Amino acid sequence: MIHIYTGNGKGKTTSSFGLAMRASGQGLKVIIFQFLKPKKLVCGEEISARKIRNIKIVKYEQQHPMFNGRGKTKKSMKIEITEARKAIFGGKYDMVILDEIINVIDQGFSCKKEFLKLIKKVPKDVELILTGRGDISELEKFADYVTIMVDKKHPFMQQINARRGIEY
Ligand code: ATP
Ligand code: MG
Repeated sequence: MIHIYTGNGKGKTTSSFGLAMRASGQGLKVIIFQFLKPKKLVCGEEISARKIRNIKIVKYEQQHPMFNGRGKTKKSMKIEITEARKAIFGGKYDMVILDEIINVIDQGFSCKKEFLKLIKKVPKDVELILTGRGDISELEKFADYVTIMVDKKHPFMQQINARRGIEY
């Protein structure tokens, strides 16, 4: 089935990693692609997930526009999408998590068409999890779960910076 975690509230990435923990605990093989998070940016969930045998994590150099000035990193994500496709169709993984893929699609990286083609053919025995902020209007019809995190309160609004172990 296809899952979407989106919205402006906190909890999209951490929910997907929570699901990865649950799945791996039950013997499912999980692969997590972290888009827009450069390799040098290592978050707590990555450190923990790398200790779990059934979870593989893949990261790239492409930076999140949030860290690099919006729009400056708009290049093709062909390699990333090709690798994700292999994981989805290769039969090796039961769960494929594409963390921040919704940002990638929303911000117009040149992979939207390819991704929309791919999502129509996801094998029935694969759980595909998509997270990120942005427009999901072209994606949601393919999803079985759509969860929207609502940003009612966040310490960021009180100028409190991201905290280690909580935000990263
Ligand atoms: P998390 O990684 O905590 O599950 P997320 O995946 O929902 O959050 P992103 O949109 O990926 O959030 O944002 C990246 C960073 O911004 C994370 O450190 C996250 O905790 C933080 N964040 C999430 N929501 C907000 C918000 N409403 N205001 C400010 N920062 C936020
Ligand atoms: Mg996130």
